[in-house]
Amino acid sequence: MTRELTTATVFTGIAELVTNDGLLDGADHCEHLGRLSDAAVVVQDGRIAWVGPASQAPPADELQDVGGRAVIPGFVDSHSHLVFAGDRSQEFAARMTGARYDGGGIATSVNATRAASDDQLRALVAARVAEMRAQGTTTVEIKSGYGLNVQDEVRSLRIAAEFTTETTFLGAHVVPPEFADRRSEYVDLVVGEMLSACAPYAHWIDVFCEPHSAHAFTEEEARVVLSAGQDAGLGLRVHGNQLGHGPGVRLAVELGAASVDHCTFLTVEDVENLAAASDTTVATLLPGVEFSTRSPYPDARRLLDAGASIALASDCNPGTCYSSSIPFVLALAVREMSLTPAEALLAATVGSAKSLRRNDIGVIRAGNRADLTVLDAPSYLHLFYRAGVPIAGALSPGGRHGR
Ligand SMILES: [Zn+2]
Repeated sequence: MTRELTTATVFTGIAELVTNDGLLDGADHCEHLGRLSDAAVVVQDGRIAWVGPASQAPPADELQDVGGRAVIPGFVDSHSHLVFAGDRSQEFAARMTGARYDGGGIATSVNATRAASDDQLRALVAARVAEMRAQGTTTVEIKSGYGLNVQDEVRSLRIAAEFTTETTFLGAHVVPPEFADRRSEYVDLVVGEMLSACAPYAHWIDVFCEPHSAHAFTEEEARVVLSAGQDAGLGLRVHGNQLGHGPGVRLAVELGAASVDHCTFLTVEDVENLAAASDTTVATLLPGVEFSTRSPYPDARRLLDAGASIALASDCNPGTCYSSSIPFVLALAVREMSLTPAEALLAATVGSAKSLRRNDIGVIRAGNRADLTVLDAPSYLHLFYRAGVPIAGALSPGGRHGR
């Protein structure tokens, strides 16, 4: 999502640079953020070439002064469903006055998505990606899952791949209505013809493993889907433990999934499993969903205190959270989930990068991708302090995105 540079640009006037680099000389490593005051960053060919105090910056072809603002690693949104058409705002309004979410409304998006043209879908995804970038997100994972037939799942992934390398096949999002009384036939389709057609466009496979929804998949069905994806060379992700206690976390850890997402209802054993698997499986928390479905928030404090790896992501989707805003997610994580601002920022950068098994993003250090986000503020704390104010934007050569 970063425009490639051919010349070296030095960014100066950085009042506070959050690097997340635990080894950077001269940085304040309080809460591991590796913060530098009066810093400079040199960027060349889309990569970071140098990081340090402005007074020691090497010469570059171009100079860009950010005017006393803070710069942080671009947000990594490791969970989104951006390929969809249609409008479900009425469902949101109904939920706010008491209706419960059970995964059933997905069929509404499936019908609208199947009916849209390629160009319509592409324009919708482009607008959503631009909206994310304007709010500071520089890497986004995009799932399919509103096609739910071979042709429309392939099409969703082909379009998603135009915007990101982090594409996820989610044919096992829900059982589509036309297969409601033929579940096993649908699972056979997902792991057969659909997987074969989608795998060339997908990096990951995901499944909505949720016994509390009649539309989602059981432990055994999820195991079949994930195992087939693994055999096809895809990395594993799981939607689990969203609506109640269940097998999602256990299965994700057992199969070595990179991420298990939601983690709202966890037993003691689930937390222990995630802590023991902290090098492999990240617990990705999506508090925008709990906000938008008026549900209890996941217990991030308990996971961190146990030693689990956590990430924060948007889950931007038409049903349960149509917000693309990581700053909103960060504000919820601090206000409602008892994370410190530093812990929340780490989870939406280093944590979410880890959930994508990436170490070239999330940390501002020489050699990494030049994915920088600028804040119209002197410190990263303003992300939380000024909740709801659009101060964050991805930094591109020439200025802030979307301004
Ligand atoms: Zn999701």
